[in-house]
Parts: sequence; C-alpha cells; structure tokens
Amino acid sequence: MSLQCPRCHSPKVASFHHAMKIGAAIGTVGGAARGVSAALAGAQAGALVGAIAGPVGITLGSVSGAILGGLAGGVGGCALGAQLGESLDRHALANNLCLACNHRFNLPA
Ligand SMILES: [Zn+2]
Repeated sequence: MSLQCPRCHSPKVASFHHAMKIGAAIGTVGGAARGVSAALAGAQAGALVGAIAGPVGITLGSVSGAILGGLAGGVGGCALGAQLGESLDRHALANNLCLACNHRFNLPA
C-alpha cells in the first residue's frame, strides 16, 4: 500500500507503529497487576469456601482460587491493552511522518 502526505502529496512517508506495542505492554503489565489482585481475591474467596472443609480445604481453595483469578485477570488485561494500543495507533496518534515536509498525520479512517 502506498501512503501519501495529505499536505504536500509526497509519497515519501514513514509509518510508525509504536502505540500498539506500548498499549500491549501496558496491557500486559496492567493485566498482570490485575491478575495478582484477582488472584488474592480468588485466594480469599477460595479460603472462605475451603474453610468449611477444614485446613486442607483452605489450602486447596486458596490455590485454585489464586490460579483461576490470576489467569482471568492476566489474559483479560493483556487483550484489553492490545485493543487499547490498536485504537490509539489508529485514531489518536499521528503515526505517519512525511519525509518531504515533516508533516505528521493519521491513517485515513
Ligand atoms: Zn508532506
């Protein structure tokens, strides 16, 4: 595909795709953080449920609650971050730079 500068119509245009990577990275970190808090919440919930069954139940409940919570939080956060990065990439940031007149612009919608 060939891009053109909307200002001077030069075909010498450089494209950047930083936002998607940044968004995905933020999402992964955020997802991991959310996963940790979800894991803690899951462990607490699991421990509460397990407490009915005694000490072994507390351990089993905590571990399975933490694993389930961590997985759900991490995967959800990463997908959310990648989506956020992609929409930033497309709509918010000027990712194309004209090499002729240094004009920055977005991809046409
Ligand atoms: Zn230009």
